[in-house]
Amino acid sequence: MPGRNVSKAGPLSPDEIALREELRANVQKLAGEIGERNMWHYTKLNAAADFIEHSFSQAGLRTRRDSYEMGGQTCYNIEAEIPGAHPEIILVGGHYDSVFGSPGANDNGTGVAATLALARQFASAKPKHTLRFVAFVNEEPPYFLSGEMGSLVYARRCRERGDKISAMISLETIGYFSDAPHSQTYPSPGLGMFYPKTGNFIGFVSNVHSRALLRRVITLFRKHAKIPSEGASLPSFIPGVSWSDQWSFWQQGYRAIMVTDTAPFRYPYYHSSSDTPDKLDYDRFTLVVSGMEKVIEDLDRL
Ligand SMILES: [Zn+2]
Repeated sequence: MPGRNVSKAGPLSPDEIALREELRANVQKLAGEIGERNMWHYTKLNAAADFIEHSFSQAGLRTRRDSYEMGGQTCYNIEAEIPGAHPEIILVGGHYDSVFGSPGANDNGTGVAATLALARQFASAKPKHTLRFVAFVNEEPPYFLSGEMGSLVYARRCRERGDKISAMISLETIGYFSDAPHSQTYPSPGLGMFYPKTGNFIGFVSNVHSRALLRRVITLFRKHAKIPSEGASLPSFIPGVSWSDQWSFWQQGYRAIMVTDTAPFRYPYYHSSSDTPDKLDYDRFTLVVSGMEKVIEDLDRL
């Protein structure tokens, strides 16, 4: 397991300030304007899908809807791809549905906002790998870790097609930070044995099979990023390790990691009606995303 990074966050560069405002606008659109988006609010779920598709298109990317039927209604994963020189795929994504009763600003407006911003950053790149950006539907209960979870439907189809995904990066709740002592808590043994007690870091989590990918990503992140980070490769049964779309890719044998502020272990508004855009720390959220941009650039060069 990589050690602890305690570098101090510096001021934002002009590029980072522009990125911050883009992230803020994306979160505001998803969680402020559209609001709760799930199968109980199906029109809003689709409004979010339309917004995501539009945002990819505006960046000049070709988009595709990966659809499936559930209870007589159609659900969509939204994909944008930047073809590379060779067919190996680096996939970055997060879920766009919100849990019942929540507008989902941090969970997971942040992951989608980051996916959209990163897709735009790479839109005119000529990558070696194929870069794929995906917004997944139906991650939250009752679909969570079930066959109807959007990312599992998607990952199964990747496996059936023989897609060569060499890295999957799941962006899950990445916008809340605190410097207060004991702002990081753990309801059970597990991650708490590995992570510190102040919620000022971004976490990288993987299963044991994806350990080498996690090490590579966190090493690259620390080369550039101006925010502390923690990493742990743990058995997937430990609470928190499987809790997002990376799990779906593990089921299909792919290597995948999650980037997260640790959500329920830190965020007081987790899965509540108060998970609104004003709760987020946009400066540190930006440093996570700008760091991930460098990680993707470097992963592509390897
Ligand atoms: Zn989530």
